[in-house]
Amino acid sequence: MLLSDLQSGESGVVVRVAGHGAFRKRIIEMGFIKGVTVQAILNAPLKDPIKYRIMNFEVSLRRSDAEKVEIVTLAEAEKEIASHKDFRAIDAPEKKLEHIAEHRTHTINVALVGNPNCGKTSIFNIAAHAHERVGNYSGVTVDEKVGVFQYEGYTFNLVDLPGTYSLSAYSPEELYVRKHILEKDPDIILNVVDGSNLERNLYLTTQLIDMDITMVMALNMYDELQRSGDHLDIEQLSTLLGMPIVPTTGRNGQGIADLFNKIIEVFEGRDTKTRHIHVNHGPELERCITTLRTELYEHGFSDRLSTRFLAIKLLENDRQLEQYAAERDTDGSVLAMRNQIAEEYKRSSGHLLVDNRDDSGHKVAVEQSRQDIESAITDAKYAFVRGALAECYTKNEKSTLHQLTDKIDAVVTHRWIGYPVFLIVMFITFFCTFAVGQYPMDWLESLFGWLGDAVGSVMSEGPLRSLLVDGIIAGVGSVLVFLPNILILYLFISFMEDSGYMARAAFIMDKLMHRMGLHGKSFIPMIMGFGCNVPAIMATRTIEDRKSRLLTMLVIPMMSCSARIPVYVILVSAFFSQYAAYVLTGLYLLGMVMAVLMAKLFSRFFVKGESLPFVMELPPYRMPTAKAVLRHTWEKGKEYLKKMGTIILGASIIVWALSYFPTNDNRQLQAENSYMAKIGKTIEPAMRPCGFDWRQSVSLLAGIGAKEVVASTMAVVYATSDDEAVALEEDFESEEGGSRISELVRDNMTPLSAASMLLFILLYMPCISTIVAIKNESGKWKWALFTVAYTIGLAWLVATAFFQIGSLLL
Ligand code: GDP
Ligand code: MG
Repeated sequence: MLLSDLQSGESGVVVRVAGHGAFRKRIIEMGFIKGVTVQAILNAPLKDPIKYRIMNFEVSLRRSDAEKVEIVTLAEAEKEIASHKDFRAIDAPEKKLEHIAEHRTHTINVALVGNPNCGKTSIFNIAAHAHERVGNYSGVTVDEKVGVFQYEGYTFNLVDLPGTYSLSAYSPEELYVRKHILEKDPDIILNVVDGSNLERNLYLTTQLIDMDITMVMALNMYDELQRSGDHLDIEQLSTLLGMPIVPTTGRNGQGIADLFNKIIEVFEGRDTKTRHIHVNHGPELERCITTLRTELYEHGFSDRLSTRFLAIKLLENDRQLEQYAAERDTDGSVLAMRNQIAEEYKRSSGHLLVDNRDDSGHKVAVEQSRQDIESAITDAKYAFVRGALAECYTKNEKSTLHQLTDKIDAVVTHRWIGYPVFLIVMFITFFCTFAVGQYPMDWLESLFGWLGDAVGSVMSEGPLRSLLVDGIIAGVGSVLVFLPNILILYLFISFMEDSGYMARAAFIMDKLMHRMGLHGKSFIPMIMGFGCNVPAIMATRTIEDRKSRLLTMLVIPMMSCSARIPVYVILVSAFFSQYAAYVLTGLYLLGMVMAVLMAKLFSRFFVKGESLPFVMELPPYRMPTAKAVLRHTWEKGKEYLKKMGTIILGASIIVWALSYFPTNDNRQLQAENSYMAKIGKTIEPAMRPCGFDWRQSVSLLAGIGAKEVVASTMAVVYATSDDEAVALEEDFESEEGGSRISELVRDNMTPLSAASMLLFILLYMPCISTIVAIKNESGKWKWALFTVAYTIGLAWLVATAFFQIGSLLL
């Protein structure tokens, strides 16, 4: 609780002093240090200041100051100990308080702040033994991830935040990070800096310095910095920036232990490098800042934020802080002064010479323009960074660090060669997924075939046997066999993401994407959609432009996710096994083409707004660590297996029950009269134009929960409804090849109707999780429902057109 809440006569132990700079220092100098016991002597509700006893002194503290001191009381300690099984039975009351106070004062809240792609998540994972996603493109981490771990007797609460280039209030990420720093007030900000890209990374550092918060810098990618042959005097830079700097390599964990030792040192106030510096913006700007700052100080703004930070941000026309200031400064004098300062600055600032050029690039005139204070502050910060680097950094002009990257990029981002390279990469991906994945799939299939036979032969005829063989083994087995394919697909996607190729693919697609109202950055989420639509929709958060982002979300369901693989393979191997590769590639391509068309359509008619161009980052290629790639792959595999044990198992049982009951001795009659058949026959009329009978209709309906269920439902529906099922169980490997389900499907469907079904499955509504994801990310049910409606409509139209035209031609 807060010191200000301590009633007269009560006492507690100080565990934390919040606030900034001189303000915090004053409280500490009065004796409110972590670990000391404080007793409230006189705390009357309306009285200010409050009187306290610390050690043997009496001090009085303003109420607003006392609100900055966090304490723990005996009552709180007892409650915490009682509720926490880790704290062993501690009897003596003073021991309890001591224990909890010790625990609290040894808890360090650390927030990771840095540019996108500088290695924050890699450091987070190593420190917190976590398995969060890393990737070699910006925007992998989209919300905060918290890791709790013990180190050297301290409990760390480590928070991984989204990457940002600055702390202005332009993008959601920037606002998010700033809000976290200001509101959660972490003890230490761990500023992660990409050592191979210092100038841009240190710009953010200068903004953090303005905030007057306690910082430690991780100089990450230190391996690359060393390899480049550049020289950096870390000691010197550390002195210039007023914070300790620890070199780290997030890929292999080097320096991470030192980093956290340093954090402890800084937390305990033992570090000698920590010193509050000001980023010098030059005399002119500094004068403006100081004037406004004094005004802020006089208006009592000093308690929550650093007044310097607030002054700078107000001069930068920061909307959010403007509002904050306006709320507290009712007479408006602060903002009035800000306007006056900005106006004067612009009037008195030197003239900037700007070349004016015509379309062909010829200089037509030299124009003079005055600089506004906002951009002057940005320039001054860059000047500060360059100045600092000039003193301690020498670039190796012959650096070969990014030569390889440049060489590869010359090919893969080439204006023409880039596209075929991309197509080849995609082709290899799908070839391996389907053709190479065929082998382990066949093994698993024989395993399940054998299992079904074995169970079938030892059990006697009856509902239980049917449940096991036709329901569970057939249903779950029909989907589980695709695990290898899905792992291979994810292996490729992970490799593309981690190596940096995905960012290039997005880059070359940029132009094409713009034409359809999307952005190159839409491309990474779209490719991710081949794996699973849900993370793909979350990944759209990297798209700053709202319109492009919404459009991307709406068309991601056209990207055929891996859950649709099982039913594709079943249908394709039943009817088109000679052309399998073409049919599958064609399906994926058709999905992409539909995405393009839909995006174009929506951007014209439904989603309004301008789409803005913005910069795409091309990070240097990095050989992904095998560990990371395998981990990503395995995590997906695990999720898939989990789905098998839950949704697919449940759905298989339900579908089996619906098709088994009401029972009838005649298999054929039973199939025709089962509940499943009733449902199927009810929706069949609507599906007949697409060429689907009740079995197909009901399988598609079942797929709404999860797309894999289409395959498992087919396995169950066709097995329980087919006369020859029993006979087929004995020799399901016919000369035409293919599995048992494919056999059953082949006997009950025409090729035309199967092809029509493939189209329908590709296009029709996404699974429930995807719909919820669209709702969450777009913020409106409207868009989620819109997606459902348009996908179903589109699937129906395409399948119907295909089937009807096909029927006429064949
Ligand atoms: P974040 O966006 O800041 O969270 O960065 P990530 O942790 O996702 O890392 C971005 C990329 O840089 C990944 O490919 C990492 O494997 C790689 N990476 C991270 N730290 C290092 C490092 O110290 N050295 C090198 N060479 N690569 C690193
Ligand atoms: Mg990250």
